[in-house]
Amino acid sequence: MKKIRPPRPELEDIEAYEAKDIRAEVRLSANENPRNLPGEILDKLAERVRENIDFNRYPDPLSTRLREMIAEANGLEPGNVLVGNGGDEIILDVILAWGGPGRKLVDLPPTFAMYGIDARMTGTRVVEVPRTSDFDVDGPSLLAAIKDQKPDIVVISNPNNPTGTMTPETLLIDVLKATDALVLVDEAYFEFSRQTMRPHMERHRNLAILRTFSKAFSLAGLRAGYLLAHESVIRELTKVRQPYSVNRFTQVAASLAFRERVVFEAGIRETMRNRDLIVHGLGAIPGVEVFPSEANYVLFRVKQASAVWRDLLHDHSVLIRDFTRTPGLEDCLRVTVGSEDEVQRFLRAMDEIMTSKRAVSHFGMNMTSSRHMKKGGE
Ligand code: PMP
Repeated sequence: MKKIRPPRPELEDIEAYEAKDIRAEVRLSANENPRNLPGEILDKLAERVRENIDFNRYPDPLSTRLREMIAEANGLEPGNVLVGNGGDEIILDVILAWGGPGRKLVDLPPTFAMYGIDARMTGTRVVEVPRTSDFDVDGPSLLAAIKDQKPDIVVISNPNNPTGTMTPETLLIDVLKATDALVLVDEAYFEFSRQTMRPHMERHRNLAILRTFSKAFSLAGLRAGYLLAHESVIRELTKVRQPYSVNRFTQVAASLAFRERVVFEAGIRETMRNRDLIVHGLGAIPGVEVFPSEANYVLFRVKQASAVWRDLLHDHSVLIRDFTRTPGLEDCLRVTVGSEDEVQRFLRAMDEIMTSKRAVSHFGMNMTSSRHMKKGGE
């Protein structure tokens, strides 16, 4: 057959998640940790690999050891924890179980793209409640949407990716009280914000909290995340999840990292210090508007943002993330908080780019250089 029957029509409107492999010396585009696993954890991992990982056997489907550790650290039972192949897998599991045709998810854009992508992919209707111009959740509109639309899932990234904004706890509690929908509070960056909704789980059975090993724990490459939720929620999710999604190696590495989690504290503090350097450094550059952040990235707005993004990459080998095509984020770029050297290099590059753009515009020239025009739009 020369023809292929088309896939589900829902896919037509979905754009694949953009994870372009662009080479750069300084990679500040994916909110990763700039530090690899600490040496002492790498040594222990190497020892475990040599001694007792049965790579020939399927992994424990529920990552029991890791699950027990996470439960204990959070004052919960293992039945309240689900470990997944990154937070991404758990988001999909939640939407597979609580969404689907005839069901609705409330999304608060601009926010993490996967909520909307997974919802559309599963035939779940997306009810968008846009954030305010400061990227805050529009509380009255959200509560009105909950009342009118009776959603099945409400998802709130807290802090919000890519804006760095926190939603006040009081509003989250109002949401939890106003609906019996599953309220997914995505705390992927909670180690940097140091704020969690965990204390509200006993009162609100519909609260589910997502966390990840990809950021503070330097394990983005191994894919591990977890959900804290009422045991009845976890039970349903185990029906839709892929049984062996978290491989043996990841289970061992994530367990070691979690057990030794105090060693990550220094890196978390360094990230918070470097975040301040970025906020102050960018704030001092004329023409740049910086948004405060509680995470390991900083969003900023600048004229001709795509040209700035290209100059950073081509002239300085610094890769950040361009959000200019995302509704509500026109002219916005997001930089991940890297090491101090990386941050300084990024800030110097920004200063240089903005200085030359000012000089060009001062002489009455078009701010878009000929090189950019040749390359075409980003
Ligand atoms: N939630 C948010 C808000 C994120 O930004 C990310 C990663 N970019 C994830 C979840 C998923 O992270 P992972 O799959 O690496 O655990």
